[in-house]
Amino acid sequence: MNVKQNLEQINQQITEHCKKGEVSTLPNVIAVTKYVTIDRANDAYEAGIRHFGENRLEGFQQKHDALPDDVVMHFIGTMQTRKVKEVINDVDYFHALDRLKLAREINKRAQHEIKCFVQVNVSGESSKQGITLEEVDNFIDELEQFEKIKVVGLMTMAPFTDDESYIKDLFQSLRIKRDEIKKRNLKHAPCTELSMGMSNDYHIASEAGATFVRIGTKLVGKEE
Ligand SMILES: *Cc1c(COP(=O)(O)O)cnc(C)c1O
Repeated sequence: MNVKQNLEQINQQITEHCKKGEVSTLPNVIAVTKYVTIDRANDAYEAGIRHFGENRLEGFQQKHDALPDDVVMHFIGTMQTRKVKEVINDVDYFHALDRLKLAREINKRAQHEIKCFVQVNVSGESSKQGITLEEVDNFIDELEQFEKIKVVGLMTMAPFTDDESYIKDLFQSLRIKRDEIKKRNLKHAPCTELSMGMSNDYHIASEAGATFVRIGTKLVGKEE
């Protein structure tokens, strides 16, 4: 399958599930290109994708340099504090803010406001990055001191499981938390966005109100 056909299928599924979940705005599709070449990333661009995601520094810089200027670049993985200065000013959205030390470094190195998602480990699985749901309010309060950091939303990765109702519960819990923070009308944390859903669960995330889904394998494939 080519990227364009994959995208059509994905869009169709997203539309159905948003309808089912009574979600009025479709999520933005981020093409996660970490497993593929620049050629394949360009295919996604040709198919109309403008949001691109990478989870490592090298891949991020490679795709950022190769893709046309009108793309929106998302850094979706954890970032080592000592690497922040090399990359942060090329990042349009950073999806993995989960510690103050990292926030402090971003604030120090950024030349403009950086749109950040706070990464939440909703399931509490020890293998996953992110803070717990209980910690979100405090963490966001602490981020107010960093004038370059704008908390645009919350992000999560669901665990690997076939239990769709469990994943749905996790996504809904994150949406509820997002709604709570949004209601507080914080200047540094408007928190209007929700980044959740990957190849295996973007349909569930769409139904639960994701505003960004991050899709690699099902959209651009995976080159070993
Ligand atoms: C790799 C990755 C994705 C995409 O994964 P697929 O299962 O290939 O769609 C999404 N989000 C994050 C944070 C990732 O690291």
